[in-house]
Amino acid sequence: KSSQDLREEQEGQTGGMLSAMVLAANVGSPADLPLVRKFKAQGVGLYRTEFLFMSDDLPSEEEQVLAYSRVIEACAPHLTVIRTLDIGGDKKAPALKLPKEQNPFLGVRALRLCLQRPKLFLAQLRAIWRASAVGPTAVMFPMIATLEELLKAKEMLSSAREEVLRDGFAVGELKVGMMIEIPSAAWNAERLAAEVDFFSIGTNDLTQYMLAVDRENNTLADLYQPYHPAVLGMIARVCQAAEKAGIWVGICGEAGGDPVLSPFFAALGVKELSMAPGSLPKVRRSLVKLNFGAEEKQTLVEAVLACSTASEVIDQLSKLV
Ligand code: PEP
Ligand code: MG
Repeated sequence: KSSQDLREEQEGQTGGMLSAMVLAANVGSPADLPLVRKFKAQGVGLYRTEFLFMSDDLPSEEEQVLAYSRVIEACAPHLTVIRTLDIGGDKKAPALKLPKEQNPFLGVRALRLCLQRPKLFLAQLRAIWRASAVGPTAVMFPMIATLEELLKAKEMLSSAREEVLRDGFAVGELKVGMMIEIPSAAWNAERLAAEVDFFSIGTNDLTQYMLAVDRENNTLADLYQPYHPAVLGMIARVCQAAEKAGIWVGICGEAGGDPVLSPFFAALGVKELSMAPGSLPKVRRSLVKLNFGAEEKQTLVEAVLACSTASEVIDQLSKLV
């Protein structure tokens, strides 16, 4: 064991269900890197690239390469998962001059926008390929509802690689994943799993779309329930599909940083929890104190999935962990 391993063990930061889990950080730009270091994240599980696009000017390909490379380099040898543009819904980009929509969360958001604006998307994919040369990198596509969207995105990713190589740039080995945040994708996970290296579950949107509750509407906050048995049951279904296909699953929504849920996710076989860096210590503590065997994991999962309401789930989780 390295001295770092020993020190962390003494501080109670390794062992238990923590050993099988990667705890990564969600970031919005290289400015978040000091927090990634401070809280000892094992890489970045969600790099929200849209922040680069939310100012008055769009970033050039070079600016994107620079920003992505800085994060990848700082996180190496751990993995950096770069999410392609997730503009629309709650995230505005004035420079893109998007038409007003009646239902922005159900509109031209994220990958839908990228597929409608291939030049914008290609520039980002080229930048991601170029940045992948500096360290372990994965790309993931947000807001996928159908298999066709995923195939189209992958096709564009291949074209971007060819272009970049033709232009004489180096590329790395890019892992390809997709976010599971729309119920149709979660339900269809088994078919989608054949096309990707990993799933990353976006619980913020998955909750919003499963319960039909605007995640931003404070007057409906009581109805916005990440603990709802239907949401957790859907996540369990996604984990089973992934296991069958031999791909890994991460959680990168707010629920990924919730210490009450982390034992449940560990019991489901989730491999990575990615969260706001400040949540890492409490999630670490909740996992390190438990060492469930296969049978206890099964009991925990069954108990949670047998619940009828979110408050029953909370009771079960507080009883069992
Ligand atoms: C999510 O939906 O859970 C997620 C991680 O993406 P965002 O919060 O950026 O929409
Ligand atoms: Mg989302």
